[in-house]
Parts: sequence; C-alpha cells; structure tokens
Amino acid sequence: MKWVFLCRLNLNAINSKLSAPKLNCVMSSSDILKTIGSIYCVGRNYADHAKELNNPVPKEPIIFTKSTACIVPFEGQIFIPDNLGRCDYETEIAIQLGNDLYQANQDRVLEALSCVGIALDLTLRDKQNELRAKKYPWDLAKSFVNACPLSKFRQLNDSKEIEELEIKLEVNGEVRQQGSTEQMVFSIPDLITFISQHIPLRSGDIVLTGTPANVGPLKNHDYLVAFLNGEAIAEAEILRT
Ligand code: ZN
Repeated sequence: MKWVFLCRLNLNAINSKLSAPKLNCVMSSSDILKTIGSIYCVGRNYADHAKELNNPVPKEPIIFTKSTACIVPFEGQIFIPDNLGRCDYETEIAIQLGNDLYQANQDRVLEALSCVGIALDLTLRDKQNELRAKKYPWDLAKSFVNACPLSKFRQLNDSKEIEELEIKLEVNGEVRQQGSTEQMVFSIPDLITFISQHIPLRSGDIVLTGTPANVGPLKNHDYLVAFLNGEAIAEAEILRT
C-alpha cells in the first residue's frame, strides 16, 4: 500500500512538470463531438453583461450546462429554427480540460487547462425570460438544436496565458462583442476550481467562461466572425428560416 502511494506521489510530481499537450486540441467538423465530454457554463461572469440584463453581479459563480447534442462546428452555415423566438449570440472563451478533477486545488486545475477555443452560448432570450419569471431551470433556452457552435481549439501555451485571453465577435463586419479574461468577475482557474468542488470533471469536458456585454439577436444571413487574441478563428453564416 505504501509503495503504491509513493508511486502516485512520484507520478504527480512528474505530471506537474509536464507542459506537453494532454489532448489533441485540433478538432475538425467530423471529430468535434468525439473529443468533448460535458459542457459547463457560467452566467454573468462579466459585470457589464450582468448589468445589461438587469441582473446583480453574482457573489459566487452561477453554473449551468448545455447538452453536447447541441454542439455544431462554428463554420459554414449554422441553422437556427425561426420558430424559437429571439436567439442571442453570447461569445465566450471555452477551455477544454486535459485531466479529471474533483474537489481540486488551484494547482491541479492549472495543470488540467489544456485547450482553448471560442464558443457561442446561443440563448433563446424570450424563453429564458419566461423560465426565469417562473423560477424554472434555463435548460430549454440553452440546449436547443445547434445552440453551441464551437471553433477549433488550440493548445494553451502556459497557465499565464489564461490571464491574457481576448475575444471579439464581428457580425456583418461590425464589432459587437469584445472582452478579456481581465474583465471576468471570477478568473478561469477560480471558476473551474469552484465547479470541481461540486461536480466531478472529466478530461475532455469544456467550460464556457461567460459572455462580455452587448449580446444581441441573430437574424437570417448574419455573418459572424470570432477572434481569439486578434486572430480570426471561426466564421459562419446564420440561417433562420
Ligand atoms: Zn453564456
């Protein structure tokens, strides 16, 4: 028993030194679903977005999920049925985990941060407001068909990089949303540490880290381009018919 324990300690020591990739981050449209486990999201993680929807800034992270069945590649054309009411874009930094985490401390969380990309947390705003008024869960507003467009992901270079990530969304050539990890109410390591206190996280899970202000409705033929640290990494046309 003691020997096993020592081996584990040694393995942990080795793992903590590794900066090598834990996952292959590059996803093509055909393998996008195979690489992803669960999707965890956080509400109101940018104070200016909380204010625009007349919500208080939360004292602890507000966590919800999206179904993996609504993942779609953020490329080509994305179909959103027109009979679902207002559908808002929410542009978010998405982090994919390379290790399992449960009740993890922040060092283990930092080691587990593996890949980064951009997600759209598409939201049926009319439906969400209706559900909120009844104090019901938001699932019906968050997990409709194609509700989670995902860019390709790339390796995070080091844990310092997550303090300096910036996202931007252009719709029809106009900047609509811009945000950076500096503006977050809860940092990415704090968010994931918090989630892991309650929920066992698996390698392959992704965490959507909240949207900056200026969410807005999608219209038929809107053309979206998403930028990570100034680089255009995803683009798609929206079809609402
Ligand atoms: Zn969101």
